[in-house]
Amino acid sequence: MNSPAGRPLRVVIVGAGLGGLGAAISLRQRGFEVEVHERAPNLGEVGAGLQLGPNAVKVLDAMGLAEPLRKNTFEPGNRLTLNWNDASLRNRAATRGADVHNYGAPYLTAHRADLHRVLQEALPENAVRLGRICTGAETRNGVAVATFADGSQVEADIVVGADGVRSAVRARLFGADKPRFTNSMCWRCIVPIDLVPAKVGPGGSISVEKTDHLSWYGPNGQVICYPVHGDGSMFNIFAGHATEGWVDESWTLPSSRAELLDAYAGWNEALLGMLARADDCFKWGIFDRDPIEQWTEGRVTLLGDAAHPTMPNLAQGANMAIEDGYTLARNLVKHAGDIDAALAGYVRERQPRTKMITLKSRENFQLSMQWPPAPPIDRSWIFSFDATKEPA
Ligand SMILES: Cc1cc2nc3c(=O)[nH]c(=O)nc-3n(C[C@H](O)[C@H](O)[C@H](O)COP(=O)(O)OP(=O)(O)OC[C@H]3O[C@@H](n4cnc5c(N)ncnc54)[C@H](O)[C@@H]3O)c2cc1C
Repeated sequence: MNSPAGRPLRVVIVGAGLGGLGAAISLRQRGFEVEVHERAPNLGEVGAGLQLGPNAVKVLDAMGLAEPLRKNTFEPGNRLTLNWNDASLRNRAATRGADVHNYGAPYLTAHRADLHRVLQEALPENAVRLGRICTGAETRNGVAVATFADGSQVEADIVVGADGVRSAVRARLFGADKPRFTNSMCWRCIVPIDLVPAKVGPGGSISVEKTDHLSWYGPNGQVICYPVHGDGSMFNIFAGHATEGWVDESWTLPSSRAELLDAYAGWNEALLGMLARADDCFKWGIFDRDPIEQWTEGRVTLLGDAAHPTMPNLAQGANMAIEDGYTLARNLVKHAGDIDAALAGYVRERQPRTKMITLKSRENFQLSMQWPPAPPIDRSWIFSFDATKEPA
Protein backbone atom coordinates (compact mmCIF):
# COMPACT_ATOMS: atom_id res chain seq x y z
CA MET A 1 0.00 0.00 0.00
CA ASN A 2 1.31 3.41 -0.94
CA SER A 3 0.78 6.62 0.96
CA PRO A 4 -1.42 9.28 -0.63
CA ALA A 5 1.87 10.79 -1.89
CA GLY A 6 2.53 7.63 -3.95
CA ARG A 7 5.54 6.34 -1.97
CA PRO A 8 5.42 3.23 0.27
CA LEU A 9 3.46 3.85 3.43
CA ARG A 10 5.75 4.75 6.33
CA VAL A 11 4.92 3.36 9.77
CA VAL A 12 6.75 4.26 12.99
CA ILE A 13 6.31 1.78 15.85
CA VAL A 14 7.08 2.85 19.41
CA GLY A 15 8.28 -0.13 21.47
CA ALA A 16 10.22 -3.24 20.47
CA GLY A 17 8.46 -5.75 22.71
CA LEU A 18 6.85 -8.87 21.29
CA GLY A 19 3.94 -6.76 19.98
CA GLY A 20 6.07 -4.07 18.33
CA LEU A 21 8.44 -6.52 16.65
CA GLY A 22 5.59 -8.76 15.50
CA ALA A 23 3.86 -5.78 13.91
CA ALA A 24 7.10 -4.64 12.28
CA ILE A 25 7.51 -8.03 10.58
CA SER A 26 3.90 -8.21 9.39
CA LEU A 27 4.07 -4.65 7.99
CA ARG A 28 7.46 -5.06 6.30
CA GLN A 29 6.31 -8.28 4.65
CA ARG A 30 3.61 -6.23 2.92
CA GLY A 31 6.05 -3.69 1.58
CA PHE A 32 5.58 -0.92 4.14
CA GLU A 33 8.50 1.13 5.34
CA VAL A 34 8.83 0.47 9.07
CA GLU A 35 10.98 2.00 11.79
CA VAL A 36 10.83 0.81 15.42
CA HIS A 37 11.90 3.13 18.26
CA GLU A 38 12.72 1.44 21.57
CA ARG A 39 13.62 3.21 24.80
CA ALA A 40 15.95 0.47 26.10
CA PRO A 41 19.63 0.87 25.23
CA ASN A 42 19.86 -2.82 24.28
CA LEU A 43 17.44 -5.09 22.57
CA GLY A 44 16.38 -8.14 24.49
CA GLU A 45 13.46 -9.47 26.41
CA VAL A 46 13.87 -10.22 30.08
CA GLY A 47 11.37 -12.15 32.11
CA ALA A 48 10.68 -15.81 31.97
CA GLY A 49 8.22 -18.11 30.27
CA LEU A 50 5.36 -17.44 27.92
CA GLN A 51 2.57 -19.64 26.65
CA LEU A 52 1.55 -19.35 23.02
CA GLY A 53 -1.93 -20.57 22.23
CA PRO A 54 -2.77 -22.05 18.82
CA ASN A 55 -4.27 -18.65 17.92
CA ALA A 56 -0.89 -16.87 18.12
CA VAL A 57 0.98 -19.82 16.60
CA LYS A 58 -1.27 -19.59 13.51
CA VAL A 59 -0.23 -15.94 13.12
CA LEU A 60 3.49 -16.58 13.66
CA ASP A 61 3.35 -19.45 11.16
CA ALA A 62 1.64 -17.18 8.61
CA MET A 63 4.49 -14.70 9.17
CA GLY A 64 6.86 -17.41 7.89
CA LEU A 65 8.31 -18.15 11.33
CA ALA A 66 7.15 -21.76 11.70
CA GLU A 67 10.64 -23.23 11.53
CA PRO A 68 12.51 -20.97 14.00
CA LEU A 69 9.46 -21.00 16.25
CA ARG A 70 9.35 -24.81 16.51
CA LYS A 71 13.13 -24.88 17.01
CA ASN A 72 13.04 -22.42 19.91
CA THR A 73 9.83 -23.38 21.71
CA PHE A 74 8.39 -26.51 23.25
CA GLU A 75 5.13 -28.40 22.78
CA PRO A 76 4.09 -29.90 26.15
CA GLY A 77 2.90 -33.50 26.08
CA ASN A 78 0.09 -33.45 28.64
CA ARG A 79 -1.59 -30.87 30.81
CA LEU A 80 -1.98 -32.00 34.43
CA THR A 81 -4.01 -30.04 36.96
CA LEU A 82 -3.18 -30.87 40.59
CA ASN A 83 -4.48 -29.93 44.01
CA TRP A 84 -2.22 -27.69 46.08
CA ASN A 85 -1.88 -29.83 49.22
CA ASP A 86 -1.59 -33.50 48.23
CA ALA A 87 -1.02 -33.05 44.47
CA SER A 88 -4.01 -35.25 43.77
CA LEU A 89 -5.07 -35.13 40.15
CA ARG A 90 -7.90 -32.82 39.16
CA ASN A 91 -7.50 -33.35 35.45
CA ARG A 92 -5.15 -34.79 32.82
CA ALA A 93 -5.43 -33.97 29.11
CA ALA A 94 -3.16 -34.72 26.18
CA THR A 95 -2.07 -31.54 24.43
CA ARG A 96 0.65 -32.62 22.00
CA GLY A 97 -1.08 -33.26 18.70
CA ALA A 98 -4.52 -32.59 20.19
CA ASP A 99 -4.41 -28.82 19.75
CA VAL A 100 -3.30 -29.13 16.14
CA HIS A 101 -6.26 -31.42 15.58
CA ASN A 102 -8.74 -29.23 17.47
CA TYR A 103 -7.54 -25.75 16.60
CA GLY A 104 -5.21 -26.01 13.62
CA ALA A 105 -1.94 -25.26 15.47
CA PRO A 106 -0.03 -26.47 18.54
CA TYR A 107 0.07 -24.95 22.02
CA LEU A 108 3.69 -23.91 22.57
CA THR A 109 5.66 -22.80 25.60
CA ALA A 110 8.62 -20.49 25.25
CA HIS A 111 11.22 -18.49 27.04
CA ARG A 112 10.44 -14.86 26.24
CA ALA A 113 14.02 -14.16 25.23
CA ASP A 114 13.91 -17.01 22.68
CA LEU A 115 10.70 -15.73 21.09
CA HIS A 116 11.97 -12.16 21.09
CA ARG A 117 15.15 -13.32 19.32
CA VAL A 118 13.13 -15.24 16.70
CA LEU A 119 11.25 -12.01 15.94
CA GLN A 120 14.40 -9.87 15.93
CA GLU A 121 16.10 -12.21 13.50
CA ALA A 122 13.22 -11.82 11.06
CA LEU A 123 13.98 -8.09 10.83
CA PRO A 124 16.96 -6.32 9.30
CA GLU A 125 19.60 -5.28 11.81
CA ASN A 126 18.86 -1.58 11.53
CA ALA A 127 15.08 -1.93 11.89
CA VAL A 128 15.11 -0.96 15.58
CA ARG A 129 16.51 2.33 16.91
CA LEU A 130 17.58 1.97 20.53
CA GLY A 131 17.69 4.44 23.39
CA ARG A 132 14.71 6.31 21.93
CA ILE A 133 12.37 7.34 24.75
CA CYS A 134 9.08 8.39 23.23
CA THR A 135 7.16 11.08 25.11
CA GLY A 136 4.01 10.98 22.98
CA ALA A 137 2.59 11.09 19.48
CA GLU A 138 -0.04 13.16 17.72
CA THR A 139 -1.40 14.02 14.28
CA ARG A 140 -0.54 17.38 12.74
CA ASN A 141 -2.13 18.30 9.41
CA GLY A 142 -2.70 14.64 8.57
CA VAL A 143 0.86 13.62 9.47
CA ALA A 144 1.62 11.38 12.46
CA VAL A 145 4.44 12.76 14.61
CA ALA A 146 6.22 10.92 17.44
CA THR A 147 8.19 13.01 19.94
CA PHE A 148 11.21 11.80 21.92
CA ALA A 149 12.83 12.76 25.20
CA ASP A 150 15.88 14.18 23.42
CA GLY A 151 13.60 16.70 21.69
CA SER A 152 13.67 14.98 18.31
CA GLN A 153 10.55 14.24 16.30
CA VAL A 154 9.83 11.59 13.69
CA GLU A 155 7.11 11.89 11.06
CA ALA A 156 5.20 9.03 9.49
CA ASP A 157 1.93 8.16 7.81
CA ILE A 158 1.03 6.17 10.92
CA VAL A 159 2.52 5.95 14.43
CA VAL A 160 1.75 2.79 16.38
CA GLY A 161 2.12 2.90 20.17
CA ALA A 162 3.32 -0.58 21.14
CA ASP A 163 4.93 0.75 24.30
CA GLY A 164 3.33 -1.45 26.91
CA VAL A 165 1.09 -1.06 29.93
CA ARG A 166 2.43 2.42 30.80
CA SER A 167 2.29 3.64 27.22
CA ALA A 168 3.37 7.24 26.64
CA VAL A 169 1.57 7.21 23.30
CA ARG A 170 -1.70 6.16 24.93
CA ALA A 171 -1.28 8.80 27.65
CA ARG A 172 -0.94 11.52 25.00
CA LEU A 173 -3.97 10.26 23.05
CA PHE A 174 -6.38 9.41 25.83
CA GLY A 175 -5.03 10.87 29.08
CA ALA A 176 -2.49 9.75 31.65
CA ASP A 177 -4.59 7.51 33.87
CA LYS A 178 -2.86 4.80 35.88
CA PRO A 179 -3.20 1.06 35.26
CA ARG A 180 -5.29 -0.82 37.84
CA PHE A 181 -3.48 -2.94 40.44
CA THR A 182 -5.44 -6.20 40.42
CA ASN A 183 -4.61 -7.29 43.96
CA SER A 184 -2.63 -10.12 42.53
CA MET A 185 1.05 -10.76 42.06
CA CYS A 186 3.28 -13.51 40.89
CA TRP A 187 6.73 -14.86 41.37
CA ARG A 188 8.58 -16.26 38.43
CA CYS A 189 11.60 -18.45 38.35
CA ILE A 190 13.16 -21.12 36.19
CA VAL A 191 14.67 -24.41 37.36
CA PRO A 192 16.46 -27.20 35.46
CA ILE A 193 14.03 -29.74 34.01
CA ASP A 194 15.71 -32.52 36.02
CA LEU A 195 14.07 -31.13 39.15
CA VAL A 196 10.60 -32.08 37.89
CA PRO A 197 9.43 -34.96 40.11
CA ALA A 198 8.68 -38.25 38.33
CA LYS A 199 5.82 -39.07 40.72
CA VAL A 200 3.43 -36.86 42.62
CA GLY A 201 0.12 -37.32 44.41
CA PRO A 202 -0.96 -39.57 47.27
CA GLY A 203 1.52 -42.43 47.52
CA GLY A 204 3.26 -41.25 44.34
CA SER A 205 0.24 -42.42 42.37
CA ILE A 206 0.58 -39.91 39.53
CA SER A 207 3.34 -40.16 36.95
CA VAL A 208 4.74 -36.94 35.58
CA GLU A 209 6.76 -36.67 32.36
CA LYS A 210 9.42 -34.01 31.97
CA THR A 211 7.46 -32.83 28.94
CA ASP A 212 4.30 -32.09 30.92
CA HIS A 213 2.58 -28.81 31.70
CA LEU A 214 1.63 -28.74 35.40
CA SER A 215 -0.88 -26.47 37.15
CA TRP A 216 -1.31 -26.53 40.93
CA TYR A 217 -4.50 -24.97 42.30
CA GLY A 218 -4.92 -23.85 45.90
CA PRO A 219 -6.68 -21.28 48.03
CA ASN A 220 -5.48 -17.80 46.99
CA GLY A 221 -2.93 -19.10 44.58
CA GLN A 222 -2.09 -20.98 41.46
CA VAL A 223 1.27 -22.26 40.20
CA ILE A 224 1.72 -22.91 36.49
CA CYS A 225 4.85 -24.75 35.31
CA TYR A 226 6.00 -25.77 31.86
CA PRO A 227 9.17 -26.65 29.94
CA VAL A 228 10.88 -23.89 27.98
CA HIS A 229 13.59 -23.65 25.26
CA GLY A 230 13.49 -25.80 22.15
CA ASP A 231 14.94 -28.76 24.02
CA GLY A 232 12.68 -28.34 27.05
CA SER A 233 15.79 -28.20 29.24
CA MET A 234 14.37 -25.73 31.78
CA PHE A 235 11.09 -25.61 33.68
CA ASN A 236 9.36 -22.24 33.99
CA ILE A 237 7.43 -21.57 37.20
CA PHE A 238 4.74 -18.89 37.41
CA ALA A 239 3.45 -18.66 40.98
CA GLY A 240 0.39 -16.41 41.13
CA HIS A 241 -1.06 -15.20 44.40
CA ALA A 242 -3.83 -12.88 45.61
CA THR A 243 -2.42 -10.04 47.71
CA GLU A 244 -3.66 -6.96 49.48
CA GLY A 245 -0.22 -5.34 49.42
CA TRP A 246 1.10 -3.30 46.55
CA VAL A 247 3.73 -4.87 44.31
CA ASP A 248 5.51 -2.99 41.56
CA GLU A 249 5.25 -4.02 37.92
CA SER A 250 8.70 -4.92 36.63
CA TRP A 251 10.42 -8.03 35.37
CA THR A 252 13.42 -7.16 37.48
CA LEU A 253 11.98 -6.67 40.97
CA PRO A 254 14.05 -9.14 42.96
CA SER A 255 12.46 -11.41 45.49
CA SER A 256 13.96 -14.30 47.39
CA ARG A 257 13.46 -18.02 47.61
CA ALA A 258 12.52 -17.54 51.26
CA GLU A 259 9.74 -15.09 50.40
CA LEU A 260 8.39 -17.44 47.75
CA LEU A 261 8.49 -20.48 50.04
CA ASP A 262 6.79 -18.49 52.76
CA ALA A 263 3.91 -17.58 50.42
CA TYR A 264 3.36 -21.25 49.53
CA ALA A 265 3.88 -22.75 52.99
CA GLY A 266 1.79 -25.90 53.37
CA TRP A 267 1.61 -26.62 49.64
CA ASN A 268 2.62 -29.99 48.28
CA GLU A 269 6.22 -30.99 48.99
CA ALA A 270 6.90 -31.95 45.36
CA LEU A 271 6.17 -28.37 44.37
CA LEU A 272 8.06 -26.89 47.31
CA GLY A 273 11.02 -29.10 46.41
CA MET A 274 11.26 -27.33 43.07
CA LEU A 275 10.69 -23.86 44.53
CA ALA A 276 13.45 -24.50 47.08
CA ARG A 277 15.94 -24.96 44.23
CA ALA A 278 14.97 -21.81 42.35
CA ASP A 279 18.01 -19.55 42.00
CA ASP A 280 16.87 -16.21 40.65
CA CYS A 281 13.44 -15.32 41.85
CA PHE A 282 11.58 -12.20 40.77
CA LYS A 283 8.17 -10.86 41.71
CA TRP A 284 5.72 -8.92 39.64
CA GLY A 285 2.57 -6.97 40.48
CA ILE A 286 -0.27 -7.68 38.07
CA PHE A 287 -1.91 -4.65 36.47
CA ASP A 288 -4.56 -4.20 33.82
CA ARG A 289 -6.92 -1.50 32.57
CA ASP A 290 -10.58 -1.36 31.74
CA PRO A 291 -11.11 -1.93 28.01
CA ILE A 292 -11.46 1.22 25.92
CA GLU A 293 -13.61 1.49 22.80
CA GLN A 294 -11.30 3.61 20.67
CA TRP A 295 -7.56 3.08 20.15
CA THR A 296 -6.94 5.57 17.38
CA GLU A 297 -6.72 9.34 17.25
CA GLY A 298 -5.98 10.70 13.77
CA ARG A 299 -3.04 8.73 12.39
CA VAL A 300 -1.84 7.39 15.73
CA THR A 301 -3.04 4.05 17.03
CA LEU A 302 -2.24 1.53 19.77
CA LEU A 303 -1.33 -2.14 19.86
CA GLY A 304 -0.68 -4.85 22.47
CA ASP A 305 -0.53 -3.91 26.16
CA ALA A 306 -0.67 -0.22 25.25
CA ALA A 307 -4.20 -0.83 23.95
CA HIS A 308 -5.42 -3.64 26.21
CA PRO A 309 -3.25 -4.62 29.19
CA THR A 310 -4.69 -7.86 30.50
CA MET A 311 -4.15 -10.10 33.50
CA PRO A 312 -2.10 -13.19 32.62
CA ASN A 313 -4.84 -15.58 33.76
CA LEU A 314 -5.68 -16.73 30.25
CA ALA A 315 -2.05 -16.32 29.09
CA GLN A 316 -3.14 -14.15 26.17
CA GLY A 317 -1.46 -10.71 26.46
CA ALA A 318 1.37 -11.40 24.03
CA ASN A 319 -0.87 -13.63 21.93
CA MET A 320 -3.24 -10.70 21.41
CA ALA A 321 -0.35 -8.32 20.66
CA ILE A 322 0.86 -10.67 17.90
CA GLU A 323 -2.67 -10.93 16.47
CA ASP A 324 -2.99 -7.12 16.58
CA GLY A 325 0.09 -6.52 14.43
CA TYR A 326 -1.00 -8.98 11.76
CA THR A 327 -4.52 -7.56 11.68
CA LEU A 328 -3.24 -4.00 11.33
CA ALA A 329 -1.07 -5.01 8.36
CA ARG A 330 -3.94 -6.94 6.77
CA ASN A 331 -6.27 -3.94 7.07
CA LEU A 332 -3.70 -1.57 5.58
CA VAL A 333 -3.56 -3.81 2.51
CA LYS A 334 -7.31 -4.27 2.38
CA HIS A 335 -8.05 -0.53 2.52
CA ALA A 336 -5.23 0.41 0.15
CA GLY A 337 -4.92 4.17 -0.07
CA ASP A 338 -7.37 4.91 2.74
CA ILE A 339 -5.43 5.06 6.00
CA ASP A 340 -8.41 6.17 8.09
CA ALA A 341 -10.53 3.25 6.86
CA ALA A 342 -7.65 0.84 7.52
CA LEU A 343 -7.17 2.05 11.10
CA ALA A 344 -10.92 1.92 11.71
CA GLY A 345 -11.08 -1.61 10.29
CA TYR A 346 -8.18 -2.69 12.50
CA VAL A 347 -9.84 -1.47 15.71
CA ARG A 348 -13.25 -2.79 14.62
CA GLU A 349 -11.75 -6.27 14.31
CA ARG A 350 -9.58 -6.22 17.40
CA GLN A 351 -11.46 -4.29 20.05
CA PRO A 352 -14.33 -6.73 20.73
CA ARG A 353 -12.06 -9.77 20.96
CA THR A 354 -9.44 -8.13 23.17
CA LYS A 355 -12.13 -6.63 25.40
CA MET A 356 -13.67 -10.07 25.89
CA ILE A 357 -10.28 -11.63 26.70
CA THR A 358 -9.40 -8.85 29.17
CA LEU A 359 -12.70 -9.29 31.01
CA LYS A 360 -12.58 -13.08 30.90
CA SER A 361 -9.01 -13.01 32.26
CA ARG A 362 -10.29 -11.11 35.29
CA GLU A 363 -13.09 -13.64 35.67
CA ASN A 364 -10.67 -16.56 35.38
CA PHE A 365 -8.52 -15.01 38.10
CA GLN A 366 -11.52 -14.76 40.42
CA LEU A 367 -12.53 -18.37 39.65
CA SER A 368 -9.03 -19.68 40.25
CA MET A 369 -8.86 -17.97 43.66
CA GLN A 370 -11.96 -19.79 44.93
CA TRP A 371 -11.51 -22.95 46.88
CA PRO A 372 -12.41 -25.44 45.66
CA PRO A 373 -11.73 -23.71 42.33
CA ALA A 374 -14.51 -23.46 39.81
CA PRO A 375 -13.85 -25.10 36.44
CA PRO A 376 -11.64 -22.81 34.34
CA ILE A 377 -13.12 -20.78 31.54
CA ASP A 378 -13.48 -22.60 28.23
CA ARG A 379 -10.73 -21.33 25.93
CA SER A 380 -11.77 -23.00 22.68
CA TRP A 381 -13.16 -19.68 21.33
CA ILE A 382 -9.75 -18.11 21.93
CA PHE A 383 -7.72 -20.91 20.37
CA SER A 384 -9.91 -21.57 17.33
CA PHE A 385 -9.67 -17.93 16.20
CA ASP A 386 -7.48 -17.20 13.19
CA ALA A 387 -6.38 -13.57 12.85
CA THR A 388 -4.74 -14.29 9.50
CA LYS A 389 -8.15 -14.67 7.88
CA GLU A 390 -10.52 -11.89 6.92
CA PRO A 391 -13.50 -11.92 9.28
CA ALA A 392 -16.58 -13.50 7.75
C1 LIG B 1 3.80 -12.76 34.84
C2 LIG B 1 3.24 -12.63 33.47
C3 LIG B 1 3.06 -13.75 32.69
C4 LIG B 1 2.52 -13.62 31.42
N1 LIG B 1 2.34 -14.73 30.65
C5 LIG B 1 1.83 -14.61 29.42
C6 LIG B 1 1.64 -15.75 28.59
O1 LIG B 1 1.91 -16.89 29.00
N2 LIG B 1 1.13 -15.58 27.34
C7 LIG B 1 0.84 -14.32 26.85
O2 LIG B 1 0.40 -14.21 25.70
N3 LIG B 1 1.02 -13.22 27.60
C8 LIG B 1 1.50 -13.33 28.87
N4 LIG B 1 1.69 -12.22 29.61
C9 LIG B 1 1.39 -10.90 29.03
C10 LIG B 1 2.51 -10.42 28.10
O3 LIG B 1 3.73 -10.43 28.80
C11 LIG B 1 2.24 -9.03 27.59
O4 LIG B 1 0.89 -8.91 27.20
C12 LIG B 1 3.12 -8.74 26.37
O5 LIG B 1 4.47 -8.80 26.73
C13 LIG B 1 2.78 -7.37 25.79
O6 LIG B 1 3.64 -7.08 24.74
P1 LIG B 1 3.79 -5.59 24.21
O7 LIG B 1 4.79 -5.66 23.12
O8 LIG B 1 2.45 -5.01 23.94
O9 LIG B 1 4.35 -4.76 25.46
P2 LIG B 1 5.74 -4.92 26.22
O10 LIG B 1 6.22 -6.31 26.21
O11 LIG B 1 5.57 -4.23 27.51
O12 LIG B 1 6.75 -4.09 25.31
C14 LIG B 1 6.72 -2.69 25.28
C15 LIG B 1 8.06 -2.19 24.74
O13 LIG B 1 7.98 -0.78 24.63
C16 LIG B 1 9.13 -0.20 25.20
N5 LIG B 1 8.74 1.12 25.69
C17 LIG B 1 7.98 1.42 26.76
N6 LIG B 1 7.82 2.73 26.88
C18 LIG B 1 8.50 3.29 25.85
C19 LIG B 1 8.70 4.63 25.45
N7 LIG B 1 8.19 5.65 26.14
N8 LIG B 1 9.45 4.87 24.35
C20 LIG B 1 9.98 3.83 23.62
N9 LIG B 1 9.81 2.55 23.98
C21 LIG B 1 9.08 2.27 25.08
C22 LIG B 1 9.52 -1.16 26.31
O14 LIG B 1 10.88 -1.00 26.69
C23 LIG B 1 9.23 -2.49 25.67
O15 LIG B 1 10.32 -2.96 24.91
C24 LIG B 1 2.19 -12.34 30.91
C25 LIG B 1 2.39 -11.20 31.70
C26 LIG B 1 2.90 -11.35 32.97
C27 LIG B 1 3.08 -10.13 33.81
